[in-house]
Amino acid sequence: MRWISRAAALSIVCLGMFPGGRESAAQVPGGFERKVIVLDAAHGGTDTGAQISDHVAEKDVTLALAVRLRSLLAARGFSVVLTRDNDAALSTDQRAEAANRAHAVACLVIHATASGVGVHLATSGLNAIETTAPGAAVPWDDAQAAYLPQSQRLAAGIGDAVTRSQVPLVLGRAAMRPLDNLTCPAVSVEIAPLGGGDSDKTPVTDAGYQQRVSIAVAGALVLWRNQAGSSGVTP
Ligand SMILES: [Zn+2]
Repeated sequence: MRWISRAAALSIVCLGMFPGGRESAAQVPGGFERKVIVLDAAHGGTDTGAQISDHVAEKDVTLALAVRLRSLLAARGFSVVLTRDNDAALSTDQRAEAANRAHAVACLVIHATASGVGVHLATSGLNAIETTAPGAAVPWDDAQAAYLPQSQRLAAGIGDAVTRSQVPLVLGRAAMRPLDNLTCPAVSVEIAPLGGGDSDKTPVTDAGYQQRVSIAVAGALVLWRNQAGSSGVTP
């Protein structure tokens, strides 16, 4: 019972956050269509994610990164949709539904960890399939399969930018929700501490480090948008 009422409350929050679906690909003066980026700050509410330090949970770091990235992307002319901009507990299906309504040129699922080093990028572990015919029904569990080649190009672009900013990079693939359910080029971005030894390790909570990674990612998304514009197709 309690769960149901919480879900109902959340659906109201979601409606407030995603007005009008396609509307999010906003037409701005001059006829330029703002490209939409979806940022999914993983975890939230009772799902705290990994413990980053004694007082910090992963859910707080993912939200901080999403908010940071949102302002950088807005300044670069993107429309940005956050699946959550507070401590809401959303299911992975709710996240995917919200993301898929946005018709985004890129969807980033943001995680954080206290183990490992640098930035870990992952694309879906599904097998790529040929793009389905327009209007064809897409199986929910495998929705990302048709977008996988684009997702891998997007991950490579973000990886290049991360490497150029001298942050170690790990590229991989993973079967995970909501990544597998997204109908857009989609990459999981997990931030891990910077530096090897415990003494000179920069934690993921470090504002300067978060900003460095966010600037790299935002730069890669600008390139991604420009490539899409010059080829005349949505990437
Ligand atoms: Zn996580």
